[in-house]
Amino acid sequence: MTASRERVLSGMRPTGKLHLGNYLGALDNWVRMQDRFDCFYFVANWHALTTLEDNVREVDVPVNTVEMVADWLGAGLDPERSTLFIQSLVPEHAELYTLLSMVTPVSWLERVPTYKEMVEQLGLESPSLGLLGYPVLQSADILMYQARWVPVGIDQVPHVELTREVARRFNHAFGEVFPEPQAKLTEIPKVPGTDGRKMSKSYGNAIYLSDSAETVREKVRPMTTDPARKRRADPGNPDVCPVFDLHRIFTPSGDREWAATGCRTAGIGCLDCKGKLLEHMEPALAPIRERRRQFAEKPDLIVDVLHEGSRRARRVAQTTMEAVRRVAPLTP
Ligand code: SF4
Repeated sequence: MTASRERVLSGMRPTGKLHLGNYLGALDNWVRMQDRFDCFYFVANWHALTTLEDNVREVDVPVNTVEMVADWLGAGLDPERSTLFIQSLVPEHAELYTLLSMVTPVSWLERVPTYKEMVEQLGLESPSLGLLGYPVLQSADILMYQARWVPVGIDQVPHVELTREVARRFNHAFGEVFPEPQAKLTEIPKVPGTDGRKMSKSYGNAIYLSDSAETVREKVRPMTTDPARKRRADPGNPDVCPVFDLHRIFTPSGDREWAATGCRTAGIGCLDCKGKLLEHMEPALAPIRERRRQFAEKPDLIVDVLHEGSRRARRVAQTTMEAVRRVAPLTP
């Protein structure tokens, strides 16, 4: 960790083991950013409760936290260089959330696209205050560390914009404390699941970082292909094939060209094509899987890493809150 580096803040809800979509969409980028930024990455465990309504006890947040952070460490997040922490172990987030909620109009929150999507998708009849206030808590998470950058996909940009507006409102109402963070757009490759839809735990189509080489083979072999290619002799179209989307991620250009040409001319079968994909996936996934396995065998070590990181994060949070309390004096 180098204090002079620009700070980056990002978090993930603890949903358990991470799949390739999570890795390629965020985690891989987090790992690479460690070389250039002062990175704060947190387990968003309060956020994990915002959509649970009455089934809170069915989701094991502590177990999911350990599984997810085993993937973080396996993928190469380094607790010496990055601060890895748990949101609820830094209770200052809740205090800042309360103060920010005083300057945030409810109408702003009702307009947030992901709020409306969540309510519709999950069929929530009576969404919680926690869900509506989710972007305010996220603003507190970001502003607490005076982060310069927040790495996000394009659909999360409105949240960072809202954080900037909340920071402006706070600074105007109480006094200048918070710099406005910037969204750092992450290019997210298309990562299809085994059925061709977007890879998602809830679709049951995911390939996990923890899957053994054999399991990955068993998942890739029956994977959905170009639906027009019914027989071996039919030419196919790699541009509409989910297997080829994975080639774009894992396979170097020479072999990728071999697969595309073989597909279009019916020179290769889909199993040949998938075999070539597996040849390139395995060397990329094996080191992550092996490191992950070593960490997962020592859950106490993972917990220690998170507690140590949370202490470090808390020191920063306390400094921020001292500045906040100076401009928003509430007690005699
Ligand atoms: S040959 Fe490869 S790219 Fe073509 S349809 Fe089969 S799996 Fe997809």
